[in-house]
Formats: sequence, structure tokens, C-alpha cells
Amino acid sequence: MLGPDANKIFTTLLKLEEPWFVENVEATPERVDIYLSTRAKALVECPVCGKRCKVHDRVQRTWRDSDVRDAECFITAKIPRCECPKCGVKQIAVPWARENISFTESFERRAMSLMQRMPLTKAAEFMHVGTWVLEGILRYHVQRSLDRMDLSNVRNILLDETSCKRGHRYITVIADADTKGIIFMTEGKGSDSLRSFSDWLIAHNGDPSRIKLVSCDFSRSFLSGINEHLPRADIVYDRFHLVKMVNDALDKIRSKNQMNGSRHKWMRFKLMKNGKDLSDDDKRKIFDIKNDNSVLGLAYEMKESLIQLYDYPDISAASEHVKQWLSWVDSKGEAPMKAVGRTVSRHFHRILNWYIHKMSNGFLEGLNGMIQTTKRIGRGYPNTQNFMTMIFFRHGRLDI
Ligand SMILES: [Zn+2]
Repeated sequence: MLGPDANKIFTTLLKLEEPWFVENVEATPERVDIYLSTRAKALVECPVCGKRCKVHDRVQRTWRDSDVRDAECFITAKIPRCECPKCGVKQIAVPWARENISFTESFERRAMSLMQRMPLTKAAEFMHVGTWVLEGILRYHVQRSLDRMDLSNVRNILLDETSCKRGHRYITVIADADTKGIIFMTEGKGSDSLRSFSDWLIAHNGDPSRIKLVSCDFSRSFLSGINEHLPRADIVYDRFHLVKMVNDALDKIRSKNQMNGSRHKWMRFKLMKNGKDLSDDDKRKIFDIKNDNSVLGLAYEMKESLIQLYDYPDISAASEHVKQWLSWVDSKGEAPMKAVGRTVSRHFHRILNWYIHKMSNGFLEGLNGMIQTTKRIGRGYPNTQNFMTMIFFRHGRLDI
């Protein structure tokens, strides 16, 4: 027992108001216990109707509070149950914690702020609790702000999928292209995910028929999902996915046509880079590769030429370029390049829509990188729901 002065100090620190008061404080360097009660004869508010009533009896409960220096801190209180003539016997609400949780609001605030700045395991270490405790707190706050999320202004979206575990479990991620905040995630991919998104929009004051633009990859199931569930949306096929597709084709051709094997393998990432970004030295090496392997050289030229489609001043020049590229690939391309040609031809207008809307998934691709890092560190996130909660928390621009 530390005496009346300590009680006063903790009354101030806890911002306690009548009828609550600090009855006692016990402290060691490792642990502080604060005991609270209400004044004996004070009336208390019924949590249902707000009427001030007599105390019927008291129940004792303990909460974990923020640490005091290095000591773990606990609050134990005798909570009055009021005797309301209208509502019966009810336990009153306490001002330092939300209902049915054994941590104080101060503890939750500190935990949330740490999780914003550091990995979960580190934050748990600082707070002296298991990660599952912090995950529970995070889930509550993220869910609460998701429930309040207002999507009435969403018009343009970025759509992508990412794998959250080893063994191909997919998550569909949708961001608002204008605010760059993630607004939706669901397990799975394709058309079903778009139906869930449409329901989600409606539940959050949005309107699927007001979505004007979607930037996404070339997946057929996305295409049919968009047509079905976002009926007025136009599509811009994402340039990052186009570049990836043509690079994958180039890589197939490279691995099938390795004459000077090890050197080509070593050059693999250089071959996939945009030629404009190469050093003079790398340009020379690629020039040599083209000289001693005409098949690979030609595929490389085709790749470089296709990605130039984004360098034109206007859409008509770009579409002329793509048409020429298509006939070149059709007559001279290897099978993987011809397959790219077929996709490009099928989605010609949606690819060139980039010139009208200048929209791309760059933001989501960056995010994907971070997601993959999180996954590697965590050796695959054990729980998809917690994984999505963390992504919403870090990239959802939520009002938490
Ligand atoms: Zn009442």
C-alpha cells in the first residue's frame, strides 16, 4: 500500500471522475496493481436507460493497463451493478475499457500505435503479451472502421490478386484508384470475388453501376466478373501485367534456345529489363547475345518493341505501332510470342485505353511486393483473416 498521495496521482493519471476513486495502489518494480471502487452511497447510471439508480451489488474484474515504466500494470475494480426499476439489475459501463475486454483503452491505443510502426512480434514483445492478443485488438479496430467505411465516392478501381500462402491460396485485392487505399479483400479470385465486391459496395453506400473504370490483369474470369457485376465499367489492362506477360514469353524462348547457356541465364534479368534502363555495358552484352542467337535476339526485339507502345504522344500513333507489332509477331514470332500476340489482339482497345485514362496497378504491384515480404518473413501467414486485417490496417487508409 503506497498511501493517499499515490492514490491521488493515479486518480489523475487515469482521469477518473466521480463516483470512481482509487482505493489502493500496490507496486513492485515488476508489477503495479491499482484498485478502484465507487463511493459507497453514490448513485450510478443504468447502462440501458441512463437513469441514476442505487447500487445493487458489485462484481470484481481485472484489466491489463499500459505499463508504468518497466512494470506491468493492472487495474482491479469493484464494478457496481445498478438496480434499475425499469431494466432490472445491470452492470454499469466503466470509463477505462470497452465492454467484455480485459485490456484498458490506454493499452489498446498504445498497442495500435506500436503495430502501426513495427512488426507484430516486435510490438507484442514491447507490450509483454502474445501476438494473438494484439491480433485480437487489431481485428476489433479494423473491423469497426471497415463497418463504417463509406464507398459512395468510389468510381475507379484497381483490381489484382495475390497469393497469401504457399500452395496458391489467392486473395483478391481492390483499391480505390483515386485515394490509393485498399477498399476490399476476399479469399479467392475471379468472378465470385467481383460478386462479393459488388455486395460489399452496396453495403457501404456504394453503387456497382457507378464504377467507371477497372484496371486489372488479363484473367478471363475477372473479365466476365466485371461484365456481370460492374455493368458500366470500362477496363484498362494494366501495363505492368502486359510487360510481365511479354517477359514471360521471352524467358520461355530463352530457356528453350540456350546455345551459350550460362551467359544467357546470367543475363536473364537484364533481358527482362526495359532496354532504356540498361547500362552501356549491359547493352553491349545483349548486342552480343543477339548476334550469336538470332531466335532469342528476335524475341528480345519483339519484347522491347511491344513495351514501346507506352511511349507515344497519342493513342493513334500507339495503335498504329501495336498493329504493326501484331503482324510482325504473327509472321515471325516463336509460339510463346504468338500467344502474347493473340492476347494483345483480343484486348487491343483495353490495352490502348491506357492512353485515355493513364491508369495502372503500380500502387498494387508495390503493395504486392510488401505482401510477399510479409509472407516470407512469416513463412506464409498462418491465418488468412489476420493477414487481410494487417493489410487493411497498413494500407486501407482506415479511420481507426
Ligand atoms: Zn434502466
